[in-house]
Amino acid sequence: MIMKTIDCHCHIQDVKYKDDFEEFSRELKEKCLFAIVSGANKQWNRDAIGLAKKYPGLIYATIGLHPIDAVKLSESEFEEELKYIEENVDNIVGVGEIGLDYHWEKDEGKREIQKKRFIEFLRLAKRIDKPVVIHSWDAEDDCVTILKEENMQNVVMHCFSGKRPVMERALSYGYYISFSTNMLFSKLLRKLSRDCPVEKMLIETDAPYLDPNHTGKNMPWNTLLSVKKIAGMKKMDEDALLKEIIKNAEKVYGI
Ligand SMILES: [Zn+2]
Repeated sequence: MIMKTIDCHCHIQDVKYKDDFEEFSRELKEKCLFAIVSGANKQWNRDAIGLAKKYPGLIYATIGLHPIDAVKLSESEFEEELKYIEENVDNIVGVGEIGLDYHWEKDEGKREIQKKRFIEFLRLAKRIDKPVVIHSWDAEDDCVTILKEENMQNVVMHCFSGKRPVMERALSYGYYISFSTNMLFSKLLRKLSRDCPVEKMLIETDAPYLDPNHTGKNMPWNTLLSVKKIAGMKKMDEDALLKEIIKNAEKVYGI
């Protein structure tokens, strides 16, 4: 394996990378063609854009609000964040992460607010012509239903952790399935990645989370471990698989 890898979704604006970011960015450049840093709250959105501006061509940003964070904001704060995204249309390659999270939200009323705000994000993404990066936990069916109802075309199912029928439904609508490094420790996700068509596959770490080495600080280049695993299961050449995945990422994010 001689190629540089990519990371389609990470949070390297996290405080865990702050102290030695210069050194980290050198290693990133050595090992990754690019990494897509995603916002999930107000601060992370601003930090993501800061990194994308500082490392053009190496770090790209998507910004949005994690569904749990989206619900915490007042109506006016939420509108303000939508405006912030729109103002930064030239500094981002996507809107997200956005979505639904029923794992952490059990209250029906708040789930309704999640859905309402999710739809507002989707309409904004369409208006500014950007792909959406979807966070979904225990809410995959509702997520995919809303995406379909809103007629979304460029969709990345980030850190996919749903079941097979959901993956098949998402694929039938043309959505991309992004496998995180947690596929390395999930038998179900390994099987799904084996069966996901290469032309709809993306790879990510969701760093600092889901570290396959269990240090608590995942690194974007750990996506290579997933590529090796998936290539082995698909009986494909690793570089050929990675090349296809890079093509997918460049296409969906317009890089
Ligand atoms: Zn994430």
